[in-house]
Amino acid sequence: MENILNLRREELAKEISPKFRADQIFQWIYQKGAKEFEEMTNLPKKLRKELAERFTIEVPRILNVEVSRDGSKKYLLGLEDGHTVESVLLPMKGEERNEKGEIIREARYTVCVSSQVGCKVGCAFCLTGKGGFVRNLTPAEIVGQVVAIREDNGIPQNRRVNIVYMGMGEPLDNLENVAKAVTIFSDPYGLSISPRRQTISTSGLAPKIRKLGEMDLGVLLAISLHAVDDKLRERLMPINKAYNIESIIEAVKEFPIDQRKRVMFEYLVIKDLNDDLKSAKRLVKLLNGIKAKVNLIYFNPYPGTPFQRPSEERVRAFQRYLLDHGVLCTIRESKGLDISAACGQLKERSSECSL
Ligand code: SAH
Ligand code: SF4
Repeated sequence: MENILNLRREELAKEISPKFRADQIFQWIYQKGAKEFEEMTNLPKKLRKELAERFTIEVPRILNVEVSRDGSKKYLLGLEDGHTVESVLLPMKGEERNEKGEIIREARYTVCVSSQVGCKVGCAFCLTGKGGFVRNLTPAEIVGQVVAIREDNGIPQNRRVNIVYMGMGEPLDNLENVAKAVTIFSDPYGLSISPRRQTISTSGLAPKIRKLGEMDLGVLLAISLHAVDDKLRERLMPINKAYNIESIIEAVKEFPIDQRKRVMFEYLVIKDLNDDLKSAKRLVKLLNGIKAKVNLIYFNPYPGTPFQRPSEERVRAFQRYLLDHGVLCTIRESKGLDISAACGQLKERSSECSL
């Protein structure tokens, strides 16, 4: 039987009659958290029975939660075939109230979702890559991560949630299912998470960046750049042999993006490897002509890695150089560091947890 979370609303509408019932089913699943078709009391009994015979409503099971001091939560989620993935809930800015105590801005959340069990790309600094590749996640398994986490935290329907595809896996290596998840997330009868609040992060599969652009989903793009010369990038990310820096930059230049938005370039700062101002200078040059935003990430060490965390002084100097040369640049707060929840470095811990 098929998991109904795999279907876009239009696809579901084709399966049932009358079609508008698909709207109600979406509301039940994504807005009211129904887990059985029997609960869908505004549907005719016959349809409920028919749905139950053809579909399941399957959401990943929460196996473990670790709460970090800063409030982020790392979830270990169990899939139907026994594999596990991890997702992280990052509470972003807190709610703001005016002097009368009225809420003027509600708290926002970001969910970092996984797109694959493992990853084929095998970057030298990444724990996910070390475990090898197991399989792609289905659209239902991607969407289900957010359904499970929203439910667990009682996040109300109208609360803004951002999605970053920065958990385990390379989303563009599972483009079809990721694209489907983007559409299901954004459905107004479902979770209503606009594509503009969804960021796909990639190690730089240039042809897939083009393909994603052609799909014109309206999502934001993040490039895991991490190095400004091909030699170092090849060492850190073997994928660079197939798609070098220039080919990525070209693909980014063609990528359709909302005028008010920017392409994010993630730059993992590693001590004595790419934390010098010469690199900063080359980065400025490389991004010339692109509406970019750089996000500096401290390398987060783990046992057995040859790489080291850079000094704060170096990272700040790097940031200052970019800002002084007209490139927007932020430093990623080390959210959830104490539970090693930093996205993209989840695999090893999860296999520890599942033992
Ligand atoms: N495969 C995609 C998305 C998942 S990785 C990609 O590579 O873009 C998400 C982020 O986690 C990447 O930017 C990666 O650089 C970061 N990351 C991986 N290992 C890390 C580590 N040890 N410390 C800090 N960030 C890490
Ligand atoms: Fe895969 Fe991204 Fe990790 Fe590289 S950084 S191994 S692409 S998950």
